[in-house]
Amino acid sequence: MRAYVDQDACIGCGLCTATAPDVFEMNDAGKAVAVADTTEENQDSVQEAIQGCPVSAIRESE
Ligand code: SF4
Repeated sequence: MRAYVDQDACIGCGLCTATAPDVFEMNDAGKAVAVADTTEENQDSVQEAIQGCPVSAIRESE
């Protein structure tokens, strides 16, 4: 699984990068991007980030 951030929707709040720092980073535009696959180790924090994102900008796909 891999998380994706909708760059148009993201407001750069930083919640996902704080919740799952091994998966999400902020880019030069101040938006979050997923830089790693979702693994057994980080899936709980990724789910927390998806549910916590205030604008529902994070999606997951195979
Ligand atoms: S939690 Fe959502 S709005 Fe906030 S930085 Fe992450 S993707 Fe963007």
